[in-house]
Amino acid sequence: MIVMATGNGDVGIRQATTALKEGKSAVDAVEIGIREVEINRKDRSVGLHGYPNILGVAELDALIMDGRTRNVGAVGAVKGYDHPISIARNVMEKLIHVFLVAEGAERFAAEMGFEKSTLKTPEMREIYEKHVRETLGVEDPETLQTTNELWKLSHMAVDAQKAGGTTNFIAQDGNGDICTGVSTSGWGWKYPGRLGDSPVISAGGYADNRYGAAACTGTGELCIRDGTARNVVTYMKMGMSLEEATTEGLRDMNDLTSQRIGGVTIISMDHHGAHFSGNTSEGGGSHIFMTPDMDGPETVTGIGVPYEGE
Ligand code: ASP
Repeated sequence: MIVMATGNGDVGIRQATTALKEGKSAVDAVEIGIREVEINRKDRSVGLHGYPNILGVAELDALIMDGRTRNVGAVGAVKGYDHPISIARNVMEKLIHVFLVAEGAERFAAEMGFEKSTLKTPEMREIYEKHVRETLGVEDPETLQTTNELWKLSHMAVDAQKAGGTTNFIAQDGNGDICTGVSTSGWGWKYPGRLGDSPVISAGGYADNRYGAAACTGTGELCIRDGTARNVVTYMKMGMSLEEATTEGLRDMNDLTSQRIGGVTIISMDHHGAHFSGNTSEGGGSHIFMTPDMDGPETVTGIGVPYEGE
């Protein structure tokens, strides 16, 4: 039994690991862990506290995949709900579909009994207006609501250093079942309706009990172009070790040289519960993991497969 996550999963990994210890499934553990990140007021990349789109509205994305059945549920561009990961789980368990977006996802959330969020984020309004004035050079943020040039401004809005972030969880339970979950507010200041990799099955996350699982954070556009999480699992299927498969996934990323606004981090687990991570920078990033016999999570440094291009 084990849970691994990106560093921001620190607020939920203990609860997720306890769930496994109590006999709950990997799917339960992932949902429990991610819900904690989604309501972490300090996290600017996940949940309704995350950076909004270029019109100042938080649009949330999430995905959950059960590696036992390869059932999956995903939601994209959901407004006004605290826990997109739980809506995604309901998509997986209650619908014949696997992916809902925007109004349809919100309607479904209401049907499932989820309450609209009452969360107030006045400080985010201030951050947003400052960003619009200082980075976009637009004095009155209201003018963005009707301009025909939002597409141009959205190019300037993308700041790879400040705007990204996602939480990834992968858990393996006592039955050996693996689950991957991903949740994000997406790329900050994105064009309205933009989806990154996080809710896109095979790009942001994938799980298959037979081989393992992977999940991504970083420049979602790159992961979508490549189908990154699924690639890593397929590489394991083809006989590569966890480390080789993840490294190959990162190399694939680095082969994408056009329209590159930032890097990618991959976290991965094989079907024995071994865990690994890496990213496309020199440093390699890190991930955390925890097993039921540990008092708290440990951090593991990832492999760096640096992008050599411009
Ligand atoms: N992958 C996320 C997205 O593209 C953002 C991130 O993880 O930095 O929306």
